[in-house]
Amino acid sequence: MTITSVPEHITVLGAGILGAAAAHHLSRRGARVTVVDAQAPGYRSTTASFACVNGSAKIEPALAALNDRGVAEYHDISAALGDAAVRFTGQHFVATDPDSLRVAEQRVNAARARGYGGELVSGAAFREREPRLRLDTAAFAVAWFHADGWADPDAIRRHFLTGLQVQRRRATSITPTTSGRVRIDFDDGDSVDTDRVVNATGAGVADIRIPAARAARGTASSGFVVSVDTPVDLVSTVIRTPRLGIRPDGPNRALLHSHDVDGMITRGEATTHTAADVLVDRARRMFPDTGDIEIRRIAVGPRPTPPDGAPSVGARADVARYYELSAHSGVTLAPLLGRLLAEEIVTGTTDPLLAPFRPDRFREAL
Ligand SMILES: Cc1cc2nc3c(=O)[nH]c(=O)nc-3n(C[C@H](O)[C@H](O)[C@H](O)COP(=O)(O)OP(=O)(O)OC[C@H]3O[C@@H](n4cnc5c(N)ncnc54)[C@H](O)[C@@H]3O)c2cc1C
Repeated sequence: MTITSVPEHITVLGAGILGAAAAHHLSRRGARVTVVDAQAPGYRSTTASFACVNGSAKIEPALAALNDRGVAEYHDISAALGDAAVRFTGQHFVATDPDSLRVAEQRVNAARARGYGGELVSGAAFREREPRLRLDTAAFAVAWFHADGWADPDAIRRHFLTGLQVQRRRATSITPTTSGRVRIDFDDGDSVDTDRVVNATGAGVADIRIPAARAARGTASSGFVVSVDTPVDLVSTVIRTPRLGIRPDGPNRALLHSHDVDGMITRGEATTHTAADVLVDRARRMFPDTGDIEIRRIAVGPRPTPPDGAPSVGARADVARYYELSAHSGVTLAPLLGRLLAEEIVTGTTDPLLAPFRPDRFREAL
């Protein structure tokens, strides 16, 4: 790869897993990088993530190809950080009704067609792998994706931020200057000029004002996970049923998540503590013979989702020296997208994989 120019100074806004990955790869390519984050650790999407690293949940070909590459990129992380940071355990998707059966079949067919690997397995094969789990409804089908896994997103975030300082401040606006730089204003009244800026502020991406440019806003529903202590390892793989997602979270620990319980929080129908009790109750019913399941950590965060649900990565034609990095499956995609964006910034060339995911598709007339 030919390096045409190395920007003098790049400011990365947002120290979640996506911003951290971009900062790491920019720094490795010789840029002087400043990372800025508005909040103390613990109030971000990355910390509240179920963090299933997967290609299996995507059907649309370009997005599926991106996620498959995202999973492949995790093999480098695994080589560098070992088993505690990422595990390729495989994922079972359990269908217990006609809707989830349709999804299971779609995902298996799509994964097989592109060579990612997926199959429908028998209830007996599933029980053999996960002998402790009891379903209260008979499974219509179980889809198995051996290439999926899970990550510890905070460990990966910390790894990417190694050697980089994070300044705690909130950016409020970004303005290209007439002298060929970019001005960032902060809520403390201060401003800095930088050569380029990466907006990786997750749910905050559209809150940073860019005068003379307009784009559609994404959404950010609430999501949460509950980490539990368990007397034994409840599961050895990632398991998704319509009522509960559960995966290993280290020895004698599991992580719980459910989309319908996320919805209860978003709609204000439950507090995080009552919602956590719902999840733990579901887990106790699914694992009735394993002793007590105790809550050790509840994490709540936004789920940043660009307007069409697909990632938003790269430069914007209407804002000079500005780059965006935002994605819904951001844990799966961070190592890959951080690297590809850094290459784009440093070399000026865009990987074809990113072509469908450019921020320009959200531009609106002023
Ligand atoms: C419940 C749940 C389950 C999920 N499950 C999965 C999954 O299984 N697999 C998967 O791949 N993904 C999953 N995700 C999505 C994934 O976690 C996110 O896509 C990813 O963490 C986004 O990372 P990020 O760095 O963009 O955002 P964040 O982690 O939110 O980081 C953004 C950072 O920007 C900072 N910031 C915000 N505004 C400003 C500002 N104005 N100035 C400076 N800093 C600012 C914030 O403080 C924050 O630290 C899940 C998310 C949730 C909530």
